[in-house]
Amino acid sequence: MTTKHTKQQQYERMREVAQRDHLSVVGRGVRKSDGATVYAVPSRSQANRWHLVVVAYGGLVCDCTAAQFNRYCCHRAAARARMEAEASATREQRALEASLRGDELLQAVMDPSDYADLKARESEQQAERAARRERGVLVSSSAPFSIWK
Ligand SMILES: [Zn+2]
Repeated sequence: MTTKHTKQQQYERMREVAQRDHLSVVGRGVRKSDGATVYAVPSRSQANRWHLVVVAYGGLVCDCTAAQFNRYCCHRAAARARMEAEASATREQRALEASLRGDELLQAVMDPSDYADLKARESEQQAERAARRERGVLVSSSAPFSIWK
């Protein structure tokens, strides 16, 4: 009997491996030829070696041995986890900006004490979200830099 893994299962399994081994994206750059995003993820077996994961061809392409044998590798999982974290950070930022614009309207129409209550609840929620983000190990390093000079 063969075991068939869906892409999602492979991703979840490899993401666990990446988390267990504290594997996360250490660099992000842009490929000059086509503007594709490139993530650098440390190798698990060799010190001071990075694997490059390119966002191209509708997916992620890694240069490691596992990927050459068509296996879903933990480097791709780490890159995907990072992309998802970035996307959700962008969504939260947009929601925050939208709510800030809405604030001026609310303040104009609401009772001042109701408005103060609302703001207090919102800042509690934001603190909670920020605390959750900090616990995510894959989100801890977010410094972008170019590896293509
Ligand atoms: Zn790989």
